[in-house]
Amino acid sequence: MAHTLTPLPYAHDALEPFYDKATLEIHHGKHHQTYVNNLNAALEGHPELQAKSLDALLADLNAIPETIRRKVINQGGGVWNHNLFWAVMGPNKGGAPTGKIADAIQNSFGGFDAFKAKFKENALAMFGSGWTFLLVTKSGNVEIQNWPNQECPISQGHKPVLVLDVWEHAYYLKFQNRRADWIESWWNVVNWDKVNELYAAAK
Ligand code: MN
Repeated sequence: MAHTLTPLPYAHDALEPFYDKATLEIHHGKHHQTYVNNLNAALEGHPELQAKSLDALLADLNAIPETIRRKVINQGGGVWNHNLFWAVMGPNKGGAPTGKIADAIQNSFGGFDAFKAKFKENALAMFGSGWTFLLVTKSGNVEIQNWPNQECPISQGHKPVLVLDVWEHAYYLKFQNRRADWIESWWNVVNWDKVNELYAAAK
């Protein structure tokens, strides 16, 4: 079965003014759609791989023939990472985390402000294109990690609970070269309820 574009869980203008409608339309409708199309193209002629879920594909890269492995990492990771990115944002969100993820952030980073500062430092330090994740590692630690291009942490057994897209396509229309402004704006749309849900599942 072909992979399909996951619909946005909100309207294109729902994240205004923090994330603008024009960027969201292009980002989801063009960039994300292209990863979906290219993943399907890469899997053509491989019925055993076409039968697998995206999670199953990315969690077992060794099962993918070398001839198409890099394509599946790039395109499949592009699909997966964007699915998470849309899910952890929402309208009328932002603010401070609550619940178990708030406790985890307190324990691992010494508080929300310190966490935000470290997350921002990571996101700014990402050279080139990539993603900044908050994830539960394979060994159970809560960590901030940068992953380049469309590499997906589930391929290494980690469980992402929050992610920020720092590819230029994610913010250039509105913020141009000002990645720091994009990061600051993005905190206003983080859906901590969803992050808590993912964290509970990851533990
Ligand atoms: Mn993107």
